[in-house]
Amino acid sequence: MELIDTHCHLDVADFDADRREVLARTRASGVRRLVIPAVDAAHWGSLLALCRQEPGLYPALGLHPLYLEQHRQEDVEALKAAVVRHRPVAVGEIGLDFFVAGLDREHQQRLFEAQLAVARNADLPVILHVRKSHDQVLAALRRIRVRGGIAHAFNGSLQQAGQYLELGFKLGFGGTLTYERSSKIRGLAKALPLEAIVLETDAPDMAVAAHRGERNSPEYLPDCLRALAEVRDEDPALLAEHTTQNACAVLRLDEAPGRT
Ligand SMILES: [Zn+2]
Repeated sequence: MELIDTHCHLDVADFDADRREVLARTRASGVRRLVIPAVDAAHWGSLLALCRQEPGLYPALGLHPLYLEQHRQEDVEALKAAVVRHRPVAVGEIGLDFFVAGLDREHQQRLFEAQLAVARNADLPVILHVRKSHDQVLAALRRIRVRGGIAHAFNGSLQQAGQYLELGFKLGFGGTLTYERSSKIRGLAKALPLEAIVLETDAPDMAVAAHRGERNSPEYLPDCLRALAEVRDEDPALLAEHTTQNACAVLRLDEAPGRT
Protein backbone atom coordinates (compact mmCIF):
# COMPACT_ATOMS: atom_id res chain seq x y z
CA MET A 1 0.00 0.00 0.00
CA GLU A 2 1.24 3.43 -0.94
CA LEU A 3 -0.31 6.67 0.31
CA ILE A 4 0.27 10.32 -0.54
CA ASP A 5 -0.19 13.09 1.99
CA THR A 6 -1.37 15.86 -0.33
CA HIS A 7 -1.16 18.60 2.31
CA CYS A 8 1.47 18.61 5.02
CA HIS A 9 3.41 21.57 6.47
CA LEU A 10 6.47 19.51 7.28
CA ASP A 11 8.73 22.56 6.80
CA VAL A 12 7.38 24.45 9.84
CA ALA A 13 9.30 24.85 13.10
CA ASP A 14 7.08 22.34 14.93
CA PHE A 15 9.10 19.62 13.15
CA ASP A 16 12.58 21.14 13.55
CA ALA A 17 13.57 18.90 16.47
CA ASP A 18 12.64 15.55 14.90
CA ARG A 19 11.81 15.99 11.18
CA ARG A 20 14.00 13.04 10.10
CA GLU A 21 12.43 10.70 12.63
CA VAL A 22 8.93 11.84 11.66
CA LEU A 23 9.76 11.19 8.00
CA ALA A 24 11.17 7.75 8.77
CA ARG A 25 8.01 6.78 10.67
CA THR A 26 5.86 8.32 7.91
CA ARG A 27 7.54 6.20 5.23
CA ALA A 28 7.30 3.11 7.42
CA SER A 29 3.54 3.72 7.71
CA GLY A 30 3.19 3.52 3.90
CA VAL A 31 3.07 7.26 3.19
CA ARG A 32 5.70 7.54 0.46
CA ARG A 33 5.04 10.98 -0.95
CA LEU A 34 4.13 14.30 0.64
CA VAL A 35 3.14 17.63 -0.85
CA ILE A 36 4.40 20.59 1.18
CA PRO A 37 2.42 23.79 0.51
CA ALA A 38 3.97 27.16 1.30
CA VAL A 39 2.43 29.92 3.37
CA ASP A 40 4.69 32.92 2.69
CA ALA A 41 7.58 34.00 0.47
CA ALA A 42 10.05 34.15 3.36
CA HIS A 43 9.86 30.36 3.71
CA TRP A 44 9.95 29.30 0.04
CA GLY A 45 13.73 28.86 0.16
CA SER A 46 13.79 26.54 3.15
CA LEU A 47 10.78 24.61 1.83
CA LEU A 48 12.46 24.03 -1.55
CA ALA A 49 15.69 23.02 0.18
CA LEU A 50 13.83 20.45 2.30
CA CYS A 51 12.16 18.98 -0.80
CA ARG A 52 15.56 18.71 -2.53
CA GLN A 53 17.14 16.93 0.43
CA GLU A 54 14.50 14.29 0.97
CA PRO A 55 13.03 11.86 -1.54
CA GLY A 56 9.27 11.93 -2.05
CA LEU A 57 8.69 15.52 -0.94
CA TYR A 58 7.04 17.87 -3.45
CA PRO A 59 6.81 21.64 -3.00
CA ALA A 60 3.92 23.97 -3.75
CA LEU A 61 4.68 27.69 -3.73
CA GLY A 62 2.22 30.43 -2.88
CA LEU A 63 0.94 33.09 -0.50
CA HIS A 64 -1.58 31.88 2.11
CA PRO A 65 -4.58 34.16 2.80
CA LEU A 66 -4.17 33.89 6.58
CA TYR A 67 -0.77 35.61 6.35
CA LEU A 68 -2.16 38.52 4.36
CA GLU A 69 -0.36 41.17 6.40
CA GLN A 70 3.01 39.54 5.81
CA HIS A 71 2.78 39.47 2.03
CA ARG A 72 4.44 42.32 0.17
CA GLN A 73 3.37 43.78 -3.13
CA GLU A 74 6.40 42.31 -4.90
CA ASP A 75 5.74 38.76 -3.64
CA VAL A 76 3.39 37.98 -6.54
CA GLU A 77 6.10 38.98 -9.04
CA ALA A 78 8.54 36.82 -7.07
CA LEU A 79 6.04 33.93 -7.26
CA LYS A 80 5.84 34.31 -11.02
CA ALA A 81 9.61 33.95 -11.29
CA ALA A 82 9.83 31.17 -8.68
CA VAL A 83 7.32 28.87 -10.41
CA VAL A 84 9.26 29.14 -13.67
CA ARG A 85 12.59 28.56 -11.98
CA HIS A 86 11.65 25.82 -9.51
CA ARG A 87 8.63 24.15 -11.16
CA PRO A 88 6.71 23.30 -7.96
CA VAL A 89 3.90 20.74 -8.37
CA ALA A 90 1.31 23.45 -7.66
CA VAL A 91 0.67 27.04 -6.70
CA GLY A 92 -0.44 26.95 -3.06
CA GLU A 93 -1.56 27.36 -0.53
CA ILE A 94 -3.83 30.11 -1.84
CA GLY A 95 -7.49 31.01 -1.38
CA LEU A 96 -10.01 33.03 0.55
CA ASP A 97 -10.64 32.86 4.30
CA PHE A 98 -13.89 34.60 5.24
CA PHE A 99 -14.08 32.77 8.56
CA VAL A 100 -11.25 34.50 10.42
CA ALA A 101 -12.29 38.02 11.40
CA GLY A 102 -10.24 41.04 10.41
CA LEU A 103 -8.80 39.77 7.12
CA ASP A 104 -9.49 42.33 4.39
CA ARG A 105 -11.68 40.53 1.84
CA GLU A 106 -10.87 42.75 -1.11
CA HIS A 107 -7.16 42.40 -0.46
CA GLN A 108 -7.57 38.60 -0.21
CA GLN A 109 -9.52 38.54 -3.44
CA ARG A 110 -6.84 40.54 -5.32
CA LEU A 111 -4.05 38.35 -3.97
CA PHE A 112 -5.98 35.16 -4.79
CA GLU A 113 -6.80 36.16 -8.36
CA ALA A 114 -3.25 37.34 -9.02
CA GLN A 115 -1.99 33.92 -7.94
CA LEU A 116 -4.59 32.09 -10.01
CA ALA A 117 -3.25 34.01 -12.99
CA VAL A 118 0.30 32.93 -12.09
CA ALA A 119 -0.87 29.29 -11.96
CA ARG A 120 -2.76 29.56 -15.25
CA ASN A 121 0.20 31.13 -17.04
CA ALA A 122 2.54 28.46 -15.69
CA ASP A 123 0.03 25.67 -16.46
CA LEU A 124 0.09 24.55 -12.82
CA PRO A 125 -2.70 23.24 -10.58
CA VAL A 126 -3.52 25.07 -7.34
CA ILE A 127 -3.92 24.02 -3.70
CA LEU A 128 -6.84 25.89 -2.19
CA HIS A 129 -7.58 27.08 1.33
CA VAL A 130 -11.32 27.87 1.44
CA ARG A 131 -13.28 28.85 4.52
CA LYS A 132 -16.79 30.33 4.32
CA SER A 133 -15.99 31.38 0.75
CA HIS A 134 -16.75 28.49 -1.61
CA ASP A 135 -19.06 30.48 -3.88
CA GLN A 136 -16.52 33.32 -4.21
CA VAL A 137 -13.68 30.87 -4.86
CA LEU A 138 -15.73 28.97 -7.45
CA ALA A 139 -16.62 32.25 -9.20
CA ALA A 140 -12.92 33.21 -9.37
CA LEU A 141 -12.05 29.74 -10.72
CA ARG A 142 -14.60 30.21 -13.48
CA ARG A 143 -13.10 33.56 -14.44
CA ILE A 144 -9.47 32.44 -14.28
CA ARG A 145 -9.24 28.90 -15.56
CA VAL A 146 -6.41 26.93 -14.02
CA ARG A 147 -5.46 23.32 -14.56
CA GLY A 148 -7.53 22.04 -11.60
CA GLY A 149 -6.02 21.28 -8.24
CA ILE A 150 -7.12 20.37 -4.73
CA ALA A 151 -9.68 22.05 -2.46
CA HIS A 152 -7.91 21.28 0.80
CA ALA A 153 -9.87 20.29 3.97
CA PHE A 154 -13.07 20.36 1.96
CA ASN A 155 -16.03 21.53 4.00
CA GLY A 156 -18.54 22.80 1.44
CA SER A 157 -21.83 21.32 0.26
CA LEU A 158 -22.29 18.34 -2.04
CA GLN A 159 -23.43 20.75 -4.74
CA GLN A 160 -20.29 22.88 -4.36
CA ALA A 161 -18.23 19.69 -4.45
CA GLY A 162 -19.78 18.91 -7.82
CA GLN A 163 -18.77 22.34 -9.12
CA TYR A 164 -15.15 21.81 -8.04
CA LEU A 165 -15.14 18.44 -9.79
CA GLU A 166 -16.39 20.02 -12.99
CA LEU A 167 -13.50 22.47 -12.82
CA GLY A 168 -10.98 19.61 -12.58
CA PHE A 169 -10.48 19.64 -8.82
CA LYS A 170 -10.11 16.92 -6.22
CA LEU A 171 -11.29 17.36 -2.64
CA GLY A 172 -8.96 16.85 0.32
CA PHE A 173 -10.07 14.86 3.37
CA GLY A 174 -8.03 14.31 6.52
CA GLY A 175 -8.12 14.14 10.30
CA THR A 176 -11.68 15.43 10.60
CA LEU A 177 -12.87 12.10 9.16
CA THR A 178 -11.58 10.31 12.26
CA TYR A 179 -14.06 12.10 14.57
CA GLU A 180 -17.46 10.43 14.80
CA ARG A 181 -19.15 13.76 15.43
CA SER A 182 -17.95 15.14 12.06
CA SER A 183 -21.17 14.04 10.43
CA LYS A 184 -21.10 16.61 7.62
CA ILE A 185 -17.57 15.79 6.45
CA ARG A 186 -18.23 12.06 6.82
CA GLY A 187 -21.45 12.38 4.86
CA LEU A 188 -19.56 14.09 2.04
CA ALA A 189 -16.79 11.50 2.05
CA LYS A 190 -19.43 8.79 1.74
CA ALA A 191 -21.47 10.48 -0.98
CA LEU A 192 -18.67 11.61 -3.30
CA PRO A 193 -17.40 9.46 -6.16
CA LEU A 194 -14.09 7.79 -5.42
CA GLU A 195 -12.30 9.77 -8.13
CA ALA A 196 -13.08 13.00 -6.22
CA ILE A 197 -11.10 12.22 -3.07
CA VAL A 198 -7.49 12.75 -2.00
CA LEU A 199 -6.07 12.26 1.49
CA GLU A 200 -4.16 14.80 3.54
CA THR A 201 -3.13 15.43 7.14
CA ASP A 202 -2.58 19.22 7.21
CA ALA A 203 0.06 18.41 9.85
CA PRO A 204 0.97 19.90 12.30
CA ASP A 205 -2.71 21.02 12.47
CA MET A 206 -5.96 19.00 12.52
CA ALA A 207 -4.81 16.06 14.67
CA VAL A 208 -6.52 12.72 14.13
CA ALA A 209 -8.82 11.49 16.91
CA ALA A 210 -6.27 9.04 18.34
CA HIS A 211 -3.81 11.91 18.85
CA ARG A 212 -6.27 14.60 19.79
CA GLY A 213 -4.65 17.74 21.20
CA GLU A 214 -1.18 16.69 20.03
CA ARG A 215 0.91 17.81 17.10
CA ASN A 216 -0.48 16.17 13.99
CA SER A 217 1.93 14.22 11.81
CA PRO A 218 1.97 12.75 8.27
CA GLU A 219 2.63 9.34 9.86
CA TYR A 220 -1.05 9.36 10.94
CA LEU A 221 -2.40 9.48 7.38
CA PRO A 222 -3.32 5.75 7.55
CA ASP A 223 -5.79 6.70 10.34
CA CYS A 224 -7.54 8.96 7.81
CA LEU A 225 -7.58 6.13 5.26
CA ARG A 226 -9.11 3.74 7.80
CA ALA A 227 -11.77 6.32 8.71
CA LEU A 228 -12.58 6.82 5.03
CA ALA A 229 -12.85 3.05 4.53
CA GLU A 230 -15.19 2.77 7.50
CA VAL A 231 -17.39 5.67 6.39
CA ARG A 232 -17.65 4.36 2.80
CA ASP A 233 -17.70 0.71 3.81
CA GLU A 234 -15.00 -0.03 1.24
CA ASP A 235 -11.70 -1.86 1.23
CA PRO A 236 -8.81 0.32 2.56
CA ALA A 237 -6.44 -1.13 -0.06
CA LEU A 238 -8.78 -0.09 -2.85
CA LEU A 239 -9.16 3.39 -1.36
CA ALA A 240 -5.38 3.71 -0.96
CA GLU A 241 -4.91 2.84 -4.60
CA HIS A 242 -7.55 5.26 -5.87
CA THR A 243 -6.68 8.23 -3.65
CA THR A 244 -3.01 7.84 -4.60
CA GLN A 245 -3.95 7.68 -8.27
CA ASN A 246 -6.14 10.77 -7.88
CA ALA A 247 -3.32 12.75 -6.24
CA CYS A 248 -0.81 11.67 -8.89
CA ALA A 249 -3.17 12.63 -11.70
CA VAL A 250 -4.22 16.06 -10.45
CA LEU A 251 -0.69 17.13 -9.43
CA ARG A 252 1.08 15.20 -12.20
CA LEU A 253 3.41 13.77 -9.55
CA ASP A 254 4.75 11.06 -11.83
CA GLU A 255 6.15 13.75 -14.13
CA ALA A 256 7.45 15.98 -11.32
CA PRO A 257 11.20 16.27 -10.83
CA GLY A 258 10.97 15.32 -7.12
CA ARG A 259 13.03 12.24 -6.28
CA THR A 260 11.09 9.19 -5.12
ZN1 LIG B 1 -2.31 24.19 5.00
